[in-house]
Amino acid sequence: MKKFLCCALILCCTFILFACSGNFDYKQNLTNYNLGLEYNDNEKSLSGNESVTYVNSSKNVLKNVKFHLYPNAFRENSKASVVSKSNETKAYPNGKSYGNITVDNVKVGNENSNYEICGEDENILNVNLNEDLYPNDKVQISLTFYVKLPNINHRFGYGDNAVNICNFYPVACVYENDDFVTKLYNSNGDPFYSEVADYNVTVKYPQNLLIATSGVKVSQTTENEINTIYVQAKCVRDFAIVMSNKFQTKNTNYKDRLDINYFYYTDESPDKTMDLINEVFNFFEDKVGVYPYSQISVVETNFVHGGMEYPNIVLISDSLDSYDTYQMVVIHELLHQWWYSVIGNNEFDEGWIDEGLTEFCTIYFYDKHPEFNKDMDSMVKASTNSYTTFMRVYKDVLGSVDTSMNRPLDAFKTEPEYVYNTYVKGMLMFASIYNIVGEKKFVNALKYYYNSNVYEIVNEQIVINCFSKGTGKDLENIFRSWLDGKVVIVGM
Ligand SMILES: [Zn+2]
Repeated sequence: MKKFLCCALILCCTFILFACSGNFDYKQNLTNYNLGLEYNDNEKSLSGNESVTYVNSSKNVLKNVKFHLYPNAFRENSKASVVSKSNETKAYPNGKSYGNITVDNVKVGNENSNYEICGEDENILNVNLNEDLYPNDKVQISLTFYVKLPNINHRFGYGDNAVNICNFYPVACVYENDDFVTKLYNSNGDPFYSEVADYNVTVKYPQNLLIATSGVKVSQTTENEINTIYVQAKCVRDFAIVMSNKFQTKNTNYKDRLDINYFYYTDESPDKTMDLINEVFNFFEDKVGVYPYSQISVVETNFVHGGMEYPNIVLISDSLDSYDTYQMVVIHELLHQWWYSVIGNNEFDEGWIDEGLTEFCTIYFYDKHPEFNKDMDSMVKASTNSYTTFMRVYKDVLGSVDTSMNRPLDAFKTEPEYVYNTYVKGMLMFASIYNIVGEKKFVNALKYYYNSNVYEIVNEQIVINCFSKGTGKDLENIFRSWLDGKVVIVGM
């Protein structure tokens, strides 16, 4: 008991220090991306110059650097599927369409590089370095690329209302356990994994479009009906762009330090949505920690799923069934700014880390805002029943069912199996811990987990350790039994 009190006191002081600082200093000595982009709306294509000052943040001496080429998952005859069979009609309303990326003029420093497009599915660019790259040393890698966007309501593609240019440029693979992490695109979940970096991005685009990005606008000029915008984003793990000629906008400033930008075209209650966005920041900055960036864009767009998170920008589908659902997706995607953007995780191997906690925090938000008439107990009950029904049907059809959560995306046989075990079960797991330790200790754990891992990458063990320390209770066995599928969930 005495030990716990001491720990609690130390934690409490830590929180006060963080609360007083009000913000987190950005990490220094990060990899830097300079992107010069030109968008052609007639061709639905993007030409780019990319100059990367790559920092070897590993402990190994590197002889090469690998980059993801996510757009190649969208090319004809790719091995990867970008949407599940059941979502194809919704994703491709105008018929199947393809996109890809080509890379040229790869240089290391000033010298032409020996490079190759490789991976299982032309999904990796491997750049061989001219000299060994020692830990903390930098190397300049430059290239040009050309991206063709497919006609698909997805993260990378264009629809009838907007253009989503996400996961579009060669982004460095994370280096860990003596190798670069390279995974095939997968239609389950968000198959992405990257470290925080600094971005300087120039985009040329037709004047009739409005643009939302992960960056903060530094300047904008217009010439011959072409806008040139220069934006910066510091200490972010990805950079995304959405454009449309249909956008209406609302802007506000939160606490004199955060510009909230809302881009929409079907929302009939934009002021109400702005109030919700403000309240999400208000509530979770109090319960979790300060959002350290100075801009967030919430963007309605063509999207086959409910929404998608990127640093400083979230995509919300324009085809959700109700305003209630729209609000829920806004809350969910904004929560990813804490769980995915500021704290990163390998979304391919451990999707439950960001999705499970994001889902739980969404119902926690509802529970503390009675005006929505959605309390935690009834949401947990509904999810428990839905989960047990799904698993029963799944078992009847397939004969057996794997209920473990800690699997990579490609180990889930179907999208519903992934969703139920990652989102729904993830939410139920955190709800169970919340009910065991109580709100106060759970909130302590959220703060401890967040403050300990800002801009870093976490894994299963770090999550378990932080929630154990933050609640003052050893939660290892509880987490493990949920993650390994040993917990028996009974309908209510
Ligand atoms: Zn999510």
